[in-house]
Amino acid sequence: MIKEESTYKREPKAISYSTDLVIVGGGLTGTCAAITAARAGLKVVLLQDRPVLGGNCSSEVRLWILGATSHMGNNNRWAREGGVIDEIMLENLYRNPDGNPLIFDTVMLEKVVEEKNITLLLNTAVFDLDKKDGDDAIKAVHAFCSQNSTRYTVTAPLFCDSSGDGILGFLSGAAFRMGAESADEFGEKFAPDKAYGELLGHSMYFYSKDIGRPVKFTPPSFALKDITEIPRYKTFNPKDFGCRLWWLEYGGRLDTVHDTEKIKWELWKVVYGAWNYIKNSGEFPEAENMTLEWVGTIPGKRESRRFEGDYMLRQQDVVEQKKFADTVAFGGWSLDLHPADGVYSDQSGCNQWHSKGVYSIPYRCYYSKNINNLFIAGRIISATHVAFASTRVMATSAAGGQAVAIAAAICKKYNCSPREAGELHLEELQRELWRSGQYLPQTVVSDTEDLVQKAISVTASSTLQLSELAGGAHWAVIKHSAAQMLPVSGKIPSVTFWTEALEDTTLQVELRKSSKAFNHTPDITLETKSMKLTKGKQEIKIDWEATFEEDCYAFVCFMKNEKVKLQYSDARITGLVSVFNATNPAVSNYGKQEPDEDIGVDTFEFWCPQRRPEGRNIAMKLGTPLSAFETGNLTNGHHRPISRPNAWVADFTDREPMLTISWDEPKAISRIDFVFDADYDNPMENVIYVHPETVMPFCASNVKVLNCNNEIVGTISDNHQSRGAIHFEKPINTQHLKIVLSGNSEHVPVSLLEVRCYA
Ligand SMILES: Cc1cc2nc3c(=O)[nH]c(=O)nc-3n(C[C@H](O)[C@H](O)[C@H](O)COP(=O)(O)OP(=O)(O)OC[C@H]3O[C@@H](n4cnc5c(N)ncnc54)[C@H](O)[C@@H]3O)c2cc1C
Repeated sequence: MIKEESTYKREPKAISYSTDLVIVGGGLTGTCAAITAARAGLKVVLLQDRPVLGGNCSSEVRLWILGATSHMGNNNRWAREGGVIDEIMLENLYRNPDGNPLIFDTVMLEKVVEEKNITLLLNTAVFDLDKKDGDDAIKAVHAFCSQNSTRYTVTAPLFCDSSGDGILGFLSGAAFRMGAESADEFGEKFAPDKAYGELLGHSMYFYSKDIGRPVKFTPPSFALKDITEIPRYKTFNPKDFGCRLWWLEYGGRLDTVHDTEKIKWELWKVVYGAWNYIKNSGEFPEAENMTLEWVGTIPGKRESRRFEGDYMLRQQDVVEQKKFADTVAFGGWSLDLHPADGVYSDQSGCNQWHSKGVYSIPYRCYYSKNINNLFIAGRIISATHVAFASTRVMATSAAGGQAVAIAAAICKKYNCSPREAGELHLEELQRELWRSGQYLPQTVVSDTEDLVQKAISVTASSTLQLSELAGGAHWAVIKHSAAQMLPVSGKIPSVTFWTEALEDTTLQVELRKSSKAFNHTPDITLETKSMKLTKGKQEIKIDWEATFEEDCYAFVCFMKNEKVKLQYSDARITGLVSVFNATNPAVSNYGKQEPDEDIGVDTFEFWCPQRRPEGRNIAMKLGTPLSAFETGNLTNGHHRPISRPNAWVADFTDREPMLTISWDEPKAISRIDFVFDADYDNPMENVIYVHPETVMPFCASNVKVLNCNNEIVGTISDNHQSRGAIHFEKPINTQHLKIVLSGNSEHVPVSLLEVRCYA
């Protein structure tokens, strides 16, 4: 028994840690940063003020994770972020295709607790810090956990602020901004005026469910009484829940740091008022059996402080897809501003403008310009208000967190500052990021330590020569213009395809390409053919004149004609996809992006894939086979389809293909890294969406590695991830390495994006 009495002030229990890297904020950014850093060998303390990880994508807020794939609603093909964020998305899809937010929490928690280098302090809020004497650097952070009544002090040479509001940056004196830059400051034509507002607000959501019997709802007295105060109230309906109601937004005219509790009360008022309207207005008899299952208690924050790094990303960088020497991450969501009046605004809830493809984010956006050991990650990175409107989304933020983590490992290795890591060790930073799965647009990375680069040959038991996408049972009317993307170089072969005309008509077929070879926006029309079709089925062959000077995707476009059906194929192949000029209003895709006035964005059409089980390739026969799938792709420095598939693909009939890597002398190998095709086009939304697959059909599921004596030296089984590795405790010595792979889908030939071997 403890019995204690004192007239003195007591101190809470105190625990101190010393570590390599302190990460404040366990949102998706901080979580991915912590895992990446831990795997790079750093000791990490991750402080998260709430009970679970994920921030806005945790079960406390329930936002779907978004990034460059943009719900497959823009022209960013194969754009899902790589590295740990990819691993999390794939694992979640494997376990949780129905999008249960609680299961998503466990995926993130598991990934963190499995890393022995991470000390995770949940429910622990950082509230203070110490700076180094006479130096613009942080020495330690102070935090308190109300659950165990303990005060923590954590010292480290490096700190990462991924707290959303930037508590660390703010307390340490880091330069920051809050609000919107004027159009003049950076020449940004999309910069908002004061009437539109300078900050995005917070949001809060609810989930409802049908319990199979009538249920009453009595609103709390603080619920909004007059629903007509919300100009869009007529769009409420019992089916929408969770982040489909993203526009329940408030606070953009307030201080989004210090007024957060006030904003939360207003959002509760709105949420309970909306539910009262659904239940009790009489407009929705179908809501009779419905009850509230969950209402958020923590508002999701969109915007507050943005910190200044050595570079501020701006609108033009996003729109023009500027190439940076120090690219370490990328984005691809639209420039997405919201009226500051949020739910009470009579304007559209958002104003979204896409780029023609993904854009790069330079390393200089990820550290403070005036606090020497402070990384900044997440929504607080060094970007203008307009550029932030795109970089803020969680998968983009997570990719930035991963870049910070690898940079921190380099800082430790060379005992240097974040700035010096970029100035002195950029090549290594980019190489380590690329090895960890990060995609660096417009950047070619060379990996001299990769033994496969030194091989005298990499051969395969077969390689796909694509001469046909065999016709299947599916025929569909050309309701929206449809295109088959084909990887080409030089002359494009003739294409033969099959149509069924419902009556005599003329079908227009266009050959297009993208103005930038690494993009997938078919904005250049090379040839147009008008094909007279008579009623009935027919086979049509088109010869093209065009030649393609560099590797790129050609778009064979069948223009909208509701009198014509096209035949589709069941064959799916790595790096091949069909796209449609349809609409997707959820991402402001109305078929064509066309601003009314000059706001500094491009006019172009959207051609996007359909989600499986749809999204078949268009059946066609090619005059000469496409040779885009050779083994050379395994070592070309790109590990996802970009301007070509960048994949070796086996022949359809070769169900257990074998790759053989040969050297001119035996090599000692201690690790083999693989990159499989886990479909970088699939956004894998973690909530609301229900996904039809748990494993991507292109993904090799089993791998067997044999040495030159044909002994099996390593295996991977039941794979569903993009990246796999085989480690040898004792390096194997071999002059030839044989890799036998098998897939998981009968309609998909086995493929591999990359293989690397290290001593
Ligand atoms: C309503 C809404 C809709 C959005 N829509 C989307 C969308 O559809 N998809 C998408 O990807 N993004 C969306 N965004 C943007 C995105 O959610 C945020 O920009 C993103 O969460 C930023 O990531 P972050 O890691 O910087 O911050 P957060 O996710 O907020 O994570 C920061 C973490 O730090 C913790 N923290 C804060 N202070 C402290 C402290 N003092 N000590 C310790 N921990 C602390 C917080 O608890 C939090 O967990 C939306 C945002 C909102 C609010």
